[in-house]
Amino acid sequence: MTRRPKALIVGGGIAGPVTGIFLSKAGIDAEVFEAWPYSTGIGGGLQVAPNGMHVLAEIGLADEMVRRGSIAESFDFHSQKGALLGSLNRNMKARFGQPAVNVCRATLNEMLVNKAWCENVELRFEKRLVAIEDRADQPVIAHFADGSAAEGDFVIGADGVHSAVRGHVIPDGPKPFDTGLIGFGGFVPRSVIADWPIGRRVVTTFGQSGFFGYGFCSADPADGLMWWSTQPAHGVDAATFRAMSQAQLRQHLRNFHAGWHDPILRIVDAAENIVVTDTLDVATLPTWSRKRTLLIGDAAHATSPHAGQGASLALEDAMRLGRLMADRQDLALTFQNFEAERRPRAEKIVALARRNGNSKREFSATGAWIRDRMMKVLLPLGARTMDFMYAYDPRAA
Ligand SMILES: Cc1cc2nc3c(=O)[nH]c(=O)nc-3n(C[C@H](O)[C@H](O)[C@H](O)COP(=O)(O)OP(=O)(O)OC[C@H]3O[C@@H](n4cnc5c(N)ncnc54)[C@H](O)[C@@H]3O)c2cc1C
Repeated sequence: MTRRPKALIVGGGIAGPVTGIFLSKAGIDAEVFEAWPYSTGIGGGLQVAPNGMHVLAEIGLADEMVRRGSIAESFDFHSQKGALLGSLNRNMKARFGQPAVNVCRATLNEMLVNKAWCENVELRFEKRLVAIEDRADQPVIAHFADGSAAEGDFVIGADGVHSAVRGHVIPDGPKPFDTGLIGFGGFVPRSVIADWPIGRRVVTTFGQSGFFGYGFCSADPADGLMWWSTQPAHGVDAATFRAMSQAQLRQHLRNFHAGWHDPILRIVDAAENIVVTDTLDVATLPTWSRKRTLLIGDAAHATSPHAGQGASLALEDAMRLGRLMADRQDLALTFQNFEAERRPRAEKIVALARRNGNSKREFSATGAWIRDRMMKVLLPLGARTMDFMYAYDPRAA
């Protein structure tokens, strides 16, 4: 009997467990190493777009996503005073075969980890990768901070924006840089906006400075509404905000969003466990692989969150890599083919996210007025230029 190849997958976020599932289906043993302890308390909410939902459907999780999350039937944009500027992403299911679904990140992670376990993927927690050793004619070795090590035939770096594997693939390569925007986010009970019928819409608002958004992300009435606020950092980093008490953070948000339309301040007043995130980006990498190690997901093509596609791209990567690995071609060739296929799409979306982020920076009163008028005209056109993201079906690629 021939020995099954063994993959060492670094990172148990989104790309890691799903890659494990697809490799396992392709007859490859997969072991996932996650730096942190297993936790269902990962903060914040996110949206998985139709292109990512196709991947979840392929591993049998689309129905559970819809049941435990909340379908988003449009993305509406408002001015600071509440005037509707336009609406995007309507009828996603009819147009692209799957809906866009909002979900708590913790729920998604729990679903992916459970599914990976069911598919015989080994998951090891509290295993922080510190080094990779790749010598000819020997197994590749991953070394962890606790002094342990694991051997395999190849390594997949799915360890996110701060990837340690990236440092192995490209020593002295690009590092994450701060884009000058800070994110705040969390959940509030549905009852906070009980008299405000948003239905399945995600409601977003462009201020003169910054951005606010909210939408349902769970059927649970206790934390059913996710919200986020994106603001110019003005030289104050996320660590400074993280050192503040929740009451201080709430006060900061109250001050920042004073005068914004209803129900934004109501949401801010009810916010608890506010999470603060840096908004990071990484310059284009010269390569995604070196010898027997390949980068995927944010480790390869970190994107700022302004296109709502990072998670879906990570899911697509996992599925496409699984399909290519199933062909059992030479490993270096498979890695080259993966990069050749995935890079143009990922980089196009990363660039779009950067452009979107620019609309959330500081404007003069006149600048904001002009931006709002332009958005009314440009949003319907922009909607069509964004369809390429959702229309991609990784099963058919
Ligand atoms: C505020 C915010 C909002 C976002 N909203 C959306 C959204 O609505 N829709 C969307 O599609 N995307 C969104 N994104 C982007 C999305 O979260 C990422 O693109 C996605 O999580 C990337 O998946 P990944 O598996 O590559 O990395 P991650 O999900 O970051 O997973 C990486 C994992 O690797 C682990 N790890 C790191 N270093 C090591 C190490 N040395 N050893 C072992 N393990 C390690 C980490 O602990 C983590 O669990 C958002 C991002 C942010 C910051």
